[in-house]
Amino acid sequence: MNVLVLNCGSSSLKFLLVDAATESRLARGLIERIGGQALCTYEPRRGNARKFAEPVRDHRAAVERVMRWLVRTGDDAGVIDSPGEIHAVGHRVVHGGERFRAHARIDAGVIREIEDCIDLAPLHNPANLNGIRAARALLGDGTPMVAVFDTAFHSTMPEASYLYAIPYQLYRRHRIRRYGFHGTSHAYLARRYAALAGKSPGAADLITLHLGNGCSACAIRRGRSVATSMGFTPLEGLVMGTRSGDVDPSLVEHIALKEGMSLRETNSLLNKQSGLFGVSGLTNDMRELLDEEREHADRRATLAIDLFVRRVKHYVGAYLAELGGAEAIVFSGGIGENSPGIRRRVCHGLEWLGIDLDPARNDALPAGSEGEVGASGSRVRLFVIPTNEELMIARETAAVLTGRPQHD
Ligand code: ADP
Repeated sequence: MNVLVLNCGSSSLKFLLVDAATESRLARGLIERIGGQALCTYEPRRGNARKFAEPVRDHRAAVERVMRWLVRTGDDAGVIDSPGEIHAVGHRVVHGGERFRAHARIDAGVIREIEDCIDLAPLHNPANLNGIRAARALLGDGTPMVAVFDTAFHSTMPEASYLYAIPYQLYRRHRIRRYGFHGTSHAYLARRYAALAGKSPGAADLITLHLGNGCSACAIRRGRSVATSMGFTPLEGLVMGTRSGDVDPSLVEHIALKEGMSLRETNSLLNKQSGLFGVSGLTNDMRELLDEEREHADRRATLAIDLFVRRVKHYVGAYLAELGGAEAIVFSGGIGENSPGIRRRVCHGLEWLGIDLDPARNDALPAGSEGEVGASGSRVRLFVIPTNEELMIARETAAVLTGRPQHD
């Protein structure tokens, strides 16, 4: 079954065409800056990646662009002969609210219910819906489509983990609770860890750390999410590229008063001007901060990195307590996969918890590859696993359509 995975952001579209049975990739690519002169990257199974700029009006035009790449028309780098060779489409949908505890085959009713969740994810769900509408318009109703929700993996959190300690009626009236995000990534990491450790996914107790531009941690008991650091929105939890993560909520009113900002502006400050960027005053990019620290001993770069590391440790400690111990910690995301230095700083001083990094193994692991970085006697095993959200969406899509669930 060839599955086309579409991951639409507000001005971007990431895609993957994959044979779900063999998991062999036929093509992948990315269109950024939709709405203007877009940056397009297309990488067919064979041959080199192509990069160029061209105007792409909206998500519909972006999906059309993808179809023109994929379908062979003579010369080029197409990988299928007709759109009919796309047997299913898997769409990433950020927010499924409480309605979608599992991924769902898309029909008019499901689209309406995703629309109902816009209130909870006003920035993300509309872009995801644009992708769904564009794909349905171009491929027709005959091609089955599945919505794969970022929130679904966390729907197994117990009430005491997902509720905030605010008046219970607010949960009843407005569904204000912790939902968690990056679920597809955490689910992928848990399954992949289980495969590497030679156990059933339903038997693994671990902590997964998705450390990218957005960052989240997840406590997983017997293969299921029981706690995660992102909350009602992706703002909560770890220090991120431009998001503050956890702050005292009283800051919102205080900043608004002191800076003469509206609530919306304050919210935007916490989401877009905080985190690594806000503390360093330089950049949201961890690699650049590490360079600044090394080359110029920049104090604020070090401070931003220290805040970041400290918060990751804080969640590792919390989740070890939550789980009553874990057998493994998995590092992932651009930072977790590529930075031995950050992994070292996170693990430093945690030996007494049974977390024992092997410095040589950690440094020797090539950036972006999979491997174990813990010492051989480490009670908690330490792994680096590059995440693969698009592949996971393809798997989940095939699982929904064939009726074979992923999770045991
Ligand atoms: P996104 O959440 O947007 O998918 P990524 O998972 O690609 O982001 O992660 C981006 C982050 O990974 C950036 O902060 C970037 O600096 C960081 N990163 C990438 N490579 C390295 C590296 N070699 N060392 C440290 N950080 C890195």
